[in-house]
Amino acid sequence: MTRNHTRSAELAARAAGLTPGGVHSNVRLAGPRVFFERGEGAWLWDVDGNDYVDYLLGQGPNFLGHAPRAVNDAVAAAMRRGSVFGAQHALENDASELFLQAVGWADRVRFGVSGTESVQLALRLARAATGRRRFVRFAGHYHGWLDNVLVRTVDETTTPASAGQLDQFDQFHVLPYNDLAAVETLLAEHADDLAAILLEPVMCNSGVVPPRDGYLRGLRDLCDRHSVVLIFDEVITGFRIAPGGAADRYGVAPDLATYGKAMAGGWPVAAVAGRAELMDPIGTGEVNHSGTFNASVPACAAVAATLRQLRDDPPYDRLETHGGKLVDGLRELGTRHDVPLRAQGLPMAFHMSFGDPSPIHDLGQLDRLDLERYARFAHVLVDYGVWVAPRGIWYISAAHGEKELVAVLERVDAALAAGGG
Ligand code: PLP
Repeated sequence: MTRNHTRSAELAARAAGLTPGGVHSNVRLAGPRVFFERGEGAWLWDVDGNDYVDYLLGQGPNFLGHAPRAVNDAVAAAMRRGSVFGAQHALENDASELFLQAVGWADRVRFGVSGTESVQLALRLARAATGRRRFVRFAGHYHGWLDNVLVRTVDETTTPASAGQLDQFDQFHVLPYNDLAAVETLLAEHADDLAAILLEPVMCNSGVVPPRDGYLRGLRDLCDRHSVVLIFDEVITGFRIAPGGAADRYGVAPDLATYGKAMAGGWPVAAVAGRAELMDPIGTGEVNHSGTFNASVPACAAVAATLRQLRDDPPYDRLETHGGKLVDGLRELGTRHDVPLRAQGLPMAFHMSFGDPSPIHDLGQLDRLDLERYARFAHVLVDYGVWVAPRGIWYISAAHGEKELVAVLERVDAALAAGGG
């Protein structure tokens, strides 16, 4: 099946002369140059009139589906009274209360705009509280694009991932994920200069790799023993894998956590939450955290409406069911077409690739997978009306139902039947 992409191609050619690479985020460089006209629920339509069942969700934010009515109506109504005051407005409290209720373990929240900046604030708070400088991070985890966190790890060697990136690698130790003994050994030697352990509690940026049983609890205990701040980067997992994210799902509370993506129905909002003792120094001014657009009117309206909907109509059981059937269906298609299609993760965020089906527990094991073959397949799927990320992560929204399940399996089947895998 070949779809017509004439209009997209024209727009892409025009964009190429306007913005580097024709895209406004480097994550999109690997994706097809499709231009979209609109999204609704679990579906997208491009400028050439092609439809797509969407399992990328804008890299995660459209957790309620595209253009969620309740959220967009709340934002539109709020914005009729203005959007940013350089001062407070009552919606901030609604958003904060709903946020803290959903998260459960945290005393305070500060809103920002991107996950990247939230990670910076969390690290600064941890350093302020401990008076220590370094932090521990894990191979394969992504924490935004700034100099002190952006890395490329190949064969256990970590290097800057970008030209022009200031080498600040003496700020952190990189350890393998899901290996508690490695953390224990490092802390025994270096805890005196360690402010924090920072991790994706479910590694979602390299495969989708859940923590081993007891791993998060083990990190919690080590942090308590050595007075190190435990930071969960819940930018992907927050509100998605349970109302209170990974902390809720695995029953382990960090000291600080960062959020973004799913919390605001597609609007650009992020947050840091944590224990009062750690967060309150931003309230006294001892620690700086600023931002012109922090907690803007549309941001707070979007957060409040999103979290109200998640509270009043929790989609989590439906997501588990949909995701379970989807993963089973995709695996069956792989078997039927004799291609080693494999899926791993939590149903609401899982990773597709080709390769050995045995479970992956850390970055090193990802080389068992043929990620490039899958990236090519993701491009083929565009022509069959399935919108997914070349890097393999599939996200499910509250708007995905039986119709989408049937459509996606039919379309993947057709792509495989045509030899696309
Ligand atoms: N942390 C994690 C775990 C992420 O997945 C991302 C983005 O994908 C970020 C931080 C950075 O968030 P943002 O892209 O909103 O700056």
